Amino acid sequence: MAYEPEPVDEVCAVCGAEVDARQAADLGLVAEYAGRSYLFCGETHRRAFLADPALSARPEEPKTV
Ligand SMILES: [Zn+2]
Repeated sequence: MAYEPEPVDEVCAVCGAEVDARQAADLGLVAEYAGRSYLFCGETHRRAFLADPALSARPEEPKTV
């Protein structure tokens, strides 16, 4: 197979889509918030995150709806 199995364990902070960390860095699809770095699948979600980081960057807790 021509597909290289590079481990991708980074996800978009907004939608949870898998993100290639190096590609995201190349495209500037990164943001820092509260001392952490976040990656994004696209500029749209980066802007959404920056518009309301506290909403998007919630810790991994079970959310009761
Ligand atoms: Zn996304």
